[in-house]
Amino acid sequence: MLPYMPPGNDIEFVLYDLFDAETEWAQIPAFDSFDRDTVRAIVTECGKLARDVMAPLSQSSDEEGAHWNDGVVTAPEGFKDAYAALAAGGWLGVSGNPEFGGQGLPKMLTASLEEMFWGANTNLWLYATLTVGAAICVDAHADEDTRRLYLPKFYSGEWTGAMALTEAHAGTDLGLIRTRATPRSDGHYSITGTKIFITSGEHDLVKNIVHLVLAKVPDAPAGSRGISLFLVPKYIPGDDGLLGERNGFESASIEHKMGIKGSATSVINYGDAIGYLIGEPNQGLACMFTMMNYERLSVGIQGLGLAERAYQMSSSYAKERVQGRVPEGSRVANTDADAIVGHPDVRRMLLTQRAYNEGGRAFSMYVGLQLDRAKYAPIEAVREKASGFVDLLTPVAKAFITDRGLECTLLGQQVFGGHGYIREWGVEQLVRDVRIAQIYEGANGIQALDLVLRKVLRDGGATVGELIDDIRQTEVPERYTAAMDEALNAWQEVTRWLCDSAPSDSNLPGAASVDYLDVTGHVLYAWMWARMAGVSGSTDKRYVADYYFAKLLPRYYSLVASIRGGSASLMEPSSDWF
Ligand SMILES: Cc1cc2nc3c(=O)[nH]c(=O)nc-3n(C[C@H](O)[C@H](O)[C@H](O)COP(=O)(O)OP(=O)(O)OC[C@H]3O[C@@H](n4cnc5c(N)ncnc54)[C@H](O)[C@@H]3O)c2cc1C
Repeated sequence: MLPYMPPGNDIEFVLYDLFDAETEWAQIPAFDSFDRDTVRAIVTECGKLARDVMAPLSQSSDEEGAHWNDGVVTAPEGFKDAYAALAAGGWLGVSGNPEFGGQGLPKMLTASLEEMFWGANTNLWLYATLTVGAAICVDAHADEDTRRLYLPKFYSGEWTGAMALTEAHAGTDLGLIRTRATPRSDGHYSITGTKIFITSGEHDLVKNIVHLVLAKVPDAPAGSRGISLFLVPKYIPGDDGLLGERNGFESASIEHKMGIKGSATSVINYGDAIGYLIGEPNQGLACMFTMMNYERLSVGIQGLGLAERAYQMSSSYAKERVQGRVPEGSRVANTDADAIVGHPDVRRMLLTQRAYNEGGRAFSMYVGLQLDRAKYAPIEAVREKASGFVDLLTPVAKAFITDRGLECTLLGQQVFGGHGYIREWGVEQLVRDVRIAQIYEGANGIQALDLVLRKVLRDGGATVGELIDDIRQTEVPERYTAAMDEALNAWQEVTRWLCDSAPSDSNLPGAASVDYLDVTGHVLYAWMWARMAGVSGSTDKRYVADYYFAKLLPRYYSLVASIRGGSASLMEPSSDWF
């Protein structure tokens, strides 16, 4: 595998040139100490850790995988030390609450740090990302004592987190879960049941693993309104944080998977494990959504990190590999063949990756910016507006970025030809590792349904309209204004058409949702590209923006046509016909 190159310069470009982080953060007391030198030092150090410590273990961890032996799960060679380095550097607490030892960095910044962690070694970062998500959930919903006990351990990396929702018969539809929570005489609960597919549910990287488990209390309402959330540590800590008795759960096995082989995915059996209720009974799904929303943006960034790696590898390969003659005019004299980077079709593959990756970096950091505003902006109206945008854009960030992640890693592999199919170069691993990002944290089809049903139809397209107004008010270079305008009109019209048509066709939202999410993503990336080309002094961004507007944005034409194609052709055959 070629070395990982942290995209620190582009991250700084997005922070300062595109989103004017200096002005943005100066208005937020929690962030006004993050001057440019401090931020550069953070981005540089993160990049070094990603490049020098994490990336070198990526291919070997894929080859070796995680191990299970009689309930004991061992992470691949080198992960323990690398995880300890992540913890020692404070990287698990970067977005944490400063009151409990976190560093409280802006999400717009930490989104870019996550990209480097995912890109350098997705398998290793999976042990960390659930911890960050668990901490966010505990911080938002647990009582003061629980926060004081658990958050410092999460932020310091001493303990890790896991999210235990899925059961064999209950994946998307969590209302079907059967794991039970029975009240104990000490006021806590006994958790009994089996969860499957639990990422980092068991491993040997740290001494304690804290599960956030969804279960049903006695007489809970049926379906998703009867789900409660419990904190279930592997070892029960005393108030002083020292570890006591082992709790009643264990890993029954780990899965053998297509990718992310170094990440241990366990079946977990809970047998009368002690669980501590988080939040109110039957409100567990809402609490868990705090974690899932964080994880959804983060998983989107997984798609970006791996796609960036594929671009780095394939652009470097395309400059070295010589095959055939490129069109007249660009040939290198006195050689038998030219570098494949000169072929128009290879350029298509490289530019598509670059356009979606740098567009995805800007977009994920834009969502981070909205998260920061929603939480910290001093003016209530600004917080409310940003919060609406976060709700609207989270499913887009998860699904659009990971769909593009697969497309781009495949293009990266294609640039390598047959050398991309064999394992030696490591590019096929990226395809396998990115694939899961379209499935977990809510399959991408479910993200699209969430977007259409809850975020668009529910308010009659009002939030989309507000975002479109914002976009129209942004200055973009003249060369893109007509195309931008046309794309915004098309998005606005198809949104209105969906809102008008859905009441008379209950199948329409599901039939149109994936295409609608893709239209949304393509228009938003166009906005990112037009703005980036506008603020950048170099031709680099202009080249890619021109390519995006000429070759990728037009995809929305066919998507809009498909949305307007309605649901009848999908629903006419009976289920038995398939
Ligand atoms: C490697 C790996 C790691 C994972 N890590 C975790 C973890 O840490 N914790 C955890 O709790 N879970 C985890 N999961 C589970 C993951 O989140 C689920 O697999 C995912 O949510 C989909 O659920 P399912 O597999 O049961 O598929 P199903 O829910 O059976 O869905 C199958 C297909 O049907 C579609 N579908 C389902 N319902 C609808 C609907 N109403 N409308 C339209 N389409 C629908 C889906 O989009 C999907 O394409 C992990 C899974 C894997 C493979």
